[in-house]
Amino acid sequence: MFAHRIENLPPYLFARIDEMKAQKRAEGVDVIDLGVGDPDLATPPHIVDALVTSARDLDNHHYPSYLGMPAYRQAVASWYNKRFGVELNPDKEVISLMGSKDGVAHIPEVLVNPGDYVLVPSPGYPVYSTGALFAEGKTHDMPLTRENNFLPVLDDIPKDVAKKAKLMWINYPNNPTSAIAPPSFYREVVDFARDNDIVVVSDNAYSEIAFDGYKAPSFLETDGAAEVGIEMHSLSKTYNMTGWRIGMAVGNPEVIRGLGTVKTNVDSGVFNPVQYAAIAALSGPQDCVAEACKIYQERRDVLVSGLQKLGFEVTTPKATFYVWMKVPDSISFAAKMLNEAGIVVTPGVGFGKSGEGYVRFAVTRTVDRIREAVERMQEVQW
Ligand SMILES: *Cc1c(COP(=O)(O)O)cnc(C)c1O
Repeated sequence: MFAHRIENLPPYLFARIDEMKAQKRAEGVDVIDLGVGDPDLATPPHIVDALVTSARDLDNHHYPSYLGMPAYRQAVASWYNKRFGVELNPDKEVISLMGSKDGVAHIPEVLVNPGDYVLVPSPGYPVYSTGALFAEGKTHDMPLTRENNFLPVLDDIPKDVAKKAKLMWINYPNNPTSAIAPPSFYREVVDFARDNDIVVVSDNAYSEIAFDGYKAPSFLETDGAAEVGIEMHSLSKTYNMTGWRIGMAVGNPEVIRGLGTVKTNVDSGVFNPVQYAAIAALSGPQDCVAEACKIYQERRDVLVSGLQKLGFEVTTPKATFYVWMKVPDSISFAAKMLNEAGIVVTPGVGFGKSGEGYVRFAVTRTVDRIREAVERMQEVQW
């Protein structure tokens, strides 16, 4: 019954983990879930209030605009300017997304013909690959290894693949490795994209989740970046709004226009009250973001020092709410964690072949639960 593009999809490991987790819970195990990349913190009240107020207004009960309300696009442009010093034309260089996953999944429809290559980081957010496959493109993995600070080595991309590539994904601060990228990397990417006529899409979902004074840049800060690419961003991680489904794509006006063309044919925009809430988030006080980072940083420190005391190889991330840890075999380590300690972690191989040899912890649980997780791990023979 199903089309090949569905039948050929790799098995979705995360669904299997959910099943195993549910089974453990049914057995009465008090499972500590460090698997999910979904903040446990609440959306700040001033953002919720903006939604509630605007939801009462009849004017907001109709179809929204396809590309985002002018006021939302303006708020995005102002935020980009204030935060990154990047100038954007809100009419032509900003579009709303129903979460950045919407943009990630649909951008290949804009750029990729059947058989064209899409360059994807491995390990990486799984939708980079599935979006490419839905557009009948081919994916070429760019391995992210510890030796290269989890940055892709552009010289390793075969010349013929680079020539046939239409789209390249980059994602720093990175999920799942929690790596960050230096400005020199973005410089290299822009030059590579220009030389090979490739559109770059920077997924910057974690730019605001950063520690120890680190401030992540935008790809668009690099000279020439807006000529070769766009950036996708999201309110999900910054303001604890994963369930709200709001994000943005910004940058090269032609690519943004193309994305708008696809989207006007598949969705009808973001509910206006959600856009008003997003305006309140982007334009309002930002202490809530600093507060969240402080919480993640404390959890990170408890987890990393606990794991190091247990003898595991793990470094302290400068950004994201993930900790990427070296293990001999990712699936059997994750299974042992669940069966012997009642802890869910994500096996690295679920993010692509080059994720093998690692597991990902998400510090999206309280510091007490993370302490308890470390204590449980002390009882296990590793
Ligand atoms: C969470 C996440 C997103 C954003 O998802 P939304 O659809 O905006 O909720 C995008 N990319 C990566 C790598 C992520 O981890």
